[in-house]
Amino acid sequence: VGCVILSSHGEPLAKGHHARYGHAHAEIEALQGLTNEQLKDAHIIVTLEPCAHDGKTGSCAKKLATLPIRKVTFGLIDPNPLVAGQGAQILRAAGIEVKEYEGVLKPDLEELCEEFLWNQRKKKIFVALKVAQSLDGKIALSTGDSQWITSLESREKVHELRANYDAVLIGKNTVLVDNPSLNIRHPEIKKYNKVVILDRSGEVQRHREELKIFKFHAPENIFIMSETNLPQILSKLYEQGIRSLMIEGGGQIFSSFLKADLVQRLHVFTAPVILGAGRGWTEGFTINSMNERMQLQSIKTATFGQDQYT
Ligand code: ZN
Repeated sequence: VGCVILSSHGEPLAKGHHARYGHAHAEIEALQGLTNEQLKDAHIIVTLEPCAHDGKTGSCAKKLATLPIRKVTFGLIDPNPLVAGQGAQILRAAGIEVKEYEGVLKPDLEELCEEFLWNQRKKKIFVALKVAQSLDGKIALSTGDSQWITSLESREKVHELRANYDAVLIGKNTVLVDNPSLNIRHPEIKKYNKVVILDRSGEVQRHREELKIFKFHAPENIFIMSETNLPQILSKLYEQGIRSLMIEGGGQIFSSFLKADLVQRLHVFTAPVILGAGRGWTEGFTINSMNERMQLQSIKTATFGQDQYT
């Protein structure tokens, strides 16, 4: 969530953004240091409807209502149905002009906030899958070897994607075979992410000395889950404050999340290589009739190196 404040002459005065749960909301951050004189007849533009409820950080709508501003434009109405529209009402009651943005960028805005909107509407964790595959849909050779299928450019993009989610999730076999570090290595992003490992066997704990995950992540950022029920695992993680998750493998984990219909977004990198009779990522997921095929929506494509991204 971001916020820009324009002066009465339409010049940018300040901007702010909501960094993470519990921190100051975008409007409050943007307002910092501005005097009432500067705010006279100002126009506040913000991604989301200013919040009405006195939550962890106080109501932004009530705060804005005390200021000499002229107008508030917001991108999306508060996704929480219990308070939707209430922020706008508080502002209107204070004599401030309020407008919901209805332009061509609306779908992009929805997509930009998709994790947050999902959390608010469903009270559930947002789940994405990240797959690096060959043109023939394989994520590893039959020996298990998978490093590397995709280009350096794709793998750099993965670090950027990781930073968009609170945590990555990975299966025990992938941890033991690939020994990944799963941290964010990006010149412009400094962020510590969380790692969730699904392991019923306790093997990961027994090998922790050799595993990079334990070197690159603080103990409080590593979650080892031994449950088998996926919705249960997700609600436990939600309770721990994890709101979005990117699943990075392996094939069995991808298949079980798809089968359980728990995936909201796919990030698929396809390299121009053929791996032959290797390992796929949907093999544990059978569809019996074409009517039941999984139809994907809001598709975007891009190119990273020689790879296609969907
Ligand atoms: Zn707020």
